Amino acid sequence: MGPAAPKHVYYYRCPEHRKNYVLSFAFCFDKEDDVYQFAYCYPYTYTRLQAYLDSLERKGLDYVQRDLLGLSVQQRRLDLLTVSHPDNLTDEAQKRVVFITARVHPGETPASFVCQGLIDFLVSSHPIAKQLRDYLVFKIIPMLNPDGVYLGNYRCSLMGFDLNRHWQEPSPWAHPTIYACKKAMIDMYNSKDHDIDFFCDLHAHSTLMNGFMYGNTFDDPDKQERQNVFPKLFQQNAEDFSLTNTNFNRDAVKAGTGRRALVGIFDDSVLCYTLEVSFFSYMANSSGGTLPYTEEGYAKLGRNLARTFLDYYKVQSVIPSMPVAGATGKSKGGGSGGASGGGAGGKDSSSRYLMGEASSSAGRFGSGGGRAK
Ligand SMILES: [Zn+2]
Repeated sequence: MGPAAPKHVYYYRCPEHRKNYVLSFAFCFDKEDDVYQFAYCYPYTYTRLQAYLDSLERKGLDYVQRDLLGLSVQQRRLDLLTVSHPDNLTDEAQKRVVFITARVHPGETPASFVCQGLIDFLVSSHPIAKQLRDYLVFKIIPMLNPDGVYLGNYRCSLMGFDLNRHWQEPSPWAHPTIYACKKAMIDMYNSKDHDIDFFCDLHAHSTLMNGFMYGNTFDDPDKQERQNVFPKLFQQNAEDFSLTNTNFNRDAVKAGTGRRALVGIFDDSVLCYTLEVSFFSYMANSSGGTLPYTEEGYAKLGRNLARTFLDYYKVQSVIPSMPVAGATGKSKGGGSGGASGGGAGGKDSSSRYLMGEASSSAGRFGSGGGRAK
């Protein structure tokens, strides 16, 4: 993934490979002693995640907690990060939980950059991050398939399972990370002091552009409307988020995904989504051009995901809509990621508008299409 302009690069359907696509390129191994590696996208390894989490731990922030939720088949760590004001984590406190997971598909490295962007923002001194920590408990599992990542698999675990098809009945020995994650969520769901509001699983998409979401469909139009609100708010914050690609479905082929399996277990109060981001590029809402994603572009989507939780909870009147000092400007931590313009007041009115709009356009995303990821 060097900056040099590509030369002698071909991508075509090949009759000798059952008409599948073949990527070919010429490359000169000109330094005999060097080791060359080719990557499908910017690498984000298990080791890198561990180093990142170690450095986060060393900061000693009282609103960040790192737990070992379990181990993979090859005994790698399944980390669970909790980000919230310590007052929210006492036994007496009622906890409003946003649950985020990533890298169930090991080859989808953009999901890790999105996830780290989200974490970096949530632990920052940005006023929006502070407000989010005051009201919400973020539970984040940055790497659901550490063995697959370590082994360099694209989609499977060590034992060859697509773990995102095993959420319905995960086995503690064959799919231990899914088993542990699902158990943690169900324990939380059943406990009196936790309310799980959101589950969002982060992925990357190999054929579609932009960031977008998959959600579930409901027969009840009110429930469908509730699902529609978050993606609409997200689009206002992120110029690379596409409502056109956002799609709600209940395809049988995706029944074993986290999003589909969990919505069958939780009641309708829990919103379950998949957030997808293109391996390649996005068309900005403002301009017509195609822009390639960089590591920073993915991180920015993660920061904007975090910002959208604030907008969502203001719409729900969970977080008061008073103006936040500094929220209009660009401050350190996540400020550069804010694609949204206008101050806090302007955003609030647009949020109210969105609630109204949601009722008039319910079912807009109900149509099919979109590829299984
Ligand atoms: Zn995926």
